[in-house]
Amino acid sequence: MGLIMAVIALSGVSFNTHLFRHFRQKPLLLHTIVLDPGHGGLDPGTLGLMSREKNVTLAITLKLGAAIKKEFPGTKIVYTRTTDILPGNASTTKEGIYNRAQIANESKGDLFISIHCNATVKPPGGYYEKRITGYRKRTEYVGKGKLKRKKIVDVPVYKSFWIKNTTIGATTFVWKADRSGTKGDAIDQREADSKDVEDSTEVGAFEGPEARIRAELYEKKYFNNSALLATLVEEQFAKTGRKTWGVRQRGVGIKVLEATAMPSILIETGYLSNKEEERYLNSDRGQREIVRNILGALKRYRHELEVK
Ligand SMILES: [Zn+2]
Repeated sequence: MGLIMAVIALSGVSFNTHLFRHFRQKPLLLHTIVLDPGHGGLDPGTLGLMSREKNVTLAITLKLGAAIKKEFPGTKIVYTRTTDILPGNASTTKEGIYNRAQIANESKGDLFISIHCNATVKPPGGYYEKRITGYRKRTEYVGKGKLKRKKIVDVPVYKSFWIKNTTIGATTFVWKADRSGTKGDAIDQREADSKDVEDSTEVGAFEGPEARIRAELYEKKYFNNSALLATLVEEQFAKTGRKTWGVRQRGVGIKVLEATAMPSILIETGYLSNKEEERYLNSDRGQREIVRNILGALKRYRHELEVK
């Protein structure tokens, strides 16, 4: 009898919790989403065979904004730029990054999403590389006069090979928090084989006590949500068959994430240095698929926030 009562009591609890979840006034947890198309204006970003990163990131971001607006009509979308300029019409990349963060913080965003495209350090498309394919004998003469003698030497034979730039795939970055004490951290710590990851190794704009406070705040309040959304984005990419490199965190080169006082992620949507992926990233079909992936992750992210 006691057991039956306990079961009834337990199911009653879960039923009530369910009802509560269903009928309570849901707080809008994503009032404002800040969308940041990487690069712009004098900063083209990485270069493919036929396109520049700044144009691809803008096209994807504008489509993403429209899709979010449709799915979450109550959410305000703030763009750091909507045309081919550096945010705030900045005249340097560094100033542009500062403006990106300023726009995000002034609009009191609940989420910051930066859109980028990746590239390897090798030339876009592919490149020729000389390789030794064998050796041939060559007769040389050494010494002078009476000491002069014949010598057979091996000379390498070179041939040029076309090396296709095959690296493809998406990566989502979060800004590195000091998680030295945390176990079970699923985030990949390796450095990516890429030359993009934003651009700035310059420091200065975000240093000082204010920046330090923001960094602590990020670690306490925003790191977990950033990592959650980044994981969901990578999962959605994988679901549509994209190659993914998973979630990575960096403490350098993504100043814009460090400087935003909200959960923030930077999505490297794919490699412009691979001919096929560059076509995909430039195509309407590819851009729509990427937008669907990110939107799918956002829906799951919002759900996670709601049930917390
Ligand atoms: Zn970039």
